[in-house]
Amino acid sequence: MQIKRFATCCLLLGALLCGCAPKEETPFFQMRGVVLAWDDVIHPETIDWMKIMKETGMNTISICGHRYDDEEYAQMKQKWIDAGFDFEYEEHAMSFLLPRDLFATHPEYFRMDENGERKADGNGCPSCQEGLEVMMSNVEGFAKTHMPSNHRYYTWLFDGGDICHCPSCKDLSASDQGLIFENHIIKALRAFDPEAKLAHLAYHTTTPAPTKVKPEEGIFLEFAPFYRSWAEPLSKRDAIRPGLPFGWTHGDYLDMLKANLEWFGTEDSQVLEYWMDVSLVSDWKKPQKELTFHKDVFEDDLKTYASLGIKNITGYGVWIDDYYTKTFGFPEWVYDYGRGLRDFKNE
Ligand SMILES: [Zn+2]
Repeated sequence: MQIKRFATCCLLLGALLCGCAPKEETPFFQMRGVVLAWDDVIHPETIDWMKIMKETGMNTISICGHRYDDEEYAQMKQKWIDAGFDFEYEEHAMSFLLPRDLFATHPEYFRMDENGERKADGNGCPSCQEGLEVMMSNVEGFAKTHMPSNHRYYTWLFDGGDICHCPSCKDLSASDQGLIFENHIIKALRAFDPEAKLAHLAYHTTTPAPTKVKPEEGIFLEFAPFYRSWAEPLSKRDAIRPGLPFGWTHGDYLDMLKANLEWFGTEDSQVLEYWMDVSLVSDWKKPQKELTFHKDVFEDDLKTYASLGIKNITGYGVWIDDYYTKTFGFPEWVYDYGRGLRDFKNE
């Protein structure tokens, strides 16, 4: 018995030494990401995101809430890249690409409200060719301070902003209008980064799939089910988070996701989720409320997304700080999230 055990050990050791030990499987999800804020990553004594991400095989990070042209930010970005992570900028960018100060001289670049008045409070007019060209001319400058390490760019529309109701735009949905901007932005991006890809964010008014405008090459779907419930899985079609705009059930969300995947293709499609978003459960007000991480819901959702062919997943993990950990304890579920993404098997 002893000899047998010794022999087995020798065999295992031999296998390891000659490099023929069983190889680790490649995870199903290619992007296993998290979107954080600056304050979340500068206190590793409270929560060490780099350690958590390394230990659980997460591979992509986006950090918002700090000046991107700042030296301190550049150093932080390099630290993550040097550690082997992909670094990107998930952000609303319309105010950068179409600066509001242009409104004084060129109101026609900006959206028209339902009363026929141009407004500088939201998105531009996607039927104004000159405005689109101005926007494109600002893309390279934008990329200088938002250069991702993975060629995936995000220039989300003005958050919650209304769309253009001018005579030329009035029959285009928010999703179609957004896609017109994105189709121009991707062309400007590819002029200096031929591998550039750009997200079409399906969120809020742009959640329904476009019906008129086709995506240019390089546009990928980013689906963010902001008004869903995280207490129940997306697969439960009649689930709903009541009292919210649109009144969408999970079934509505699934139908819109499928329509979007048909429009944009599943290749490169991505989900932006909120399973770990402490800011959302706190209604974006501090002091924070406790987040309940429903591991069963998260795991079921991964099955749903995988079954539709989505291989890129990221999500907000913001506002876990000293107050949060002292009040509610360390949120061990951050490990559940990372491991869940890494260890998922599409069976
Ligand atoms: Zn318009």
